[in-house]
Amino acid sequence: MNAENSGICPFCAESINPVAKLCPRCRQWLTIRSLRNPAVFIWLHGGLLAAVWIVMGIGILSAINRLGNPKPYYSAFPQALRVIESRMNWAPTKDGLRIYLTGILTNQSAVAWNGVEFECRFYDAKGVMVDANHTHGFLTIQSNDDTAFRTVVIPGCATNDYASFRLSVTTARNAKAWY
Ligand SMILES: [Zn+2]
Repeated sequence: MNAENSGICPFCAESINPVAKLCPRCRQWLTIRSLRNPAVFIWLHGGLLAAVWIVMGIGILSAINRLGNPKPYYSAFPQALRVIESRMNWAPTKDGLRIYLTGILTNQSAVAWNGVEFECRFYDAKGVMVDANHTHGFLTIQSNDDTAFRTVVIPGCATNDYASFRLSVTTARNAKAWY
């Protein structure tokens, strides 16, 4: 037996019509299925409000993401940024020896890029790769243009292990990004 068909109000024990939705004596709603039940009303509206906030939140986050990472992406322009010449210098710093890679980068796309990520591979005299590193170039390169760059690598091996190197661009960010 439940409140909907017992004929007794579970809140005030008054005898009531077994199909009553609202107790005429204590004004308690006897069915949670009624949309006019204040508890159901608040629950439904709370859920609706939460859904609206979630949808708005997702919209705001994706708009912020579009500003920070606008299309087109570099992945749509493979090999657009190429290192056309580069050289390696060793230089002492207060934190130890560093490898400075300096060169010219060319942009063969109609999009300006920044936040360039370089992949640096280092080989010994036998052509075996002995060290590798990814560095970030804080530079902007305009569409169909060249720019000079310098990037620094912390060496992972002894100086004489470095006979040659290869430098390439793995990714970059659209320069239209707001942040
Ligand atoms: Zn009652």
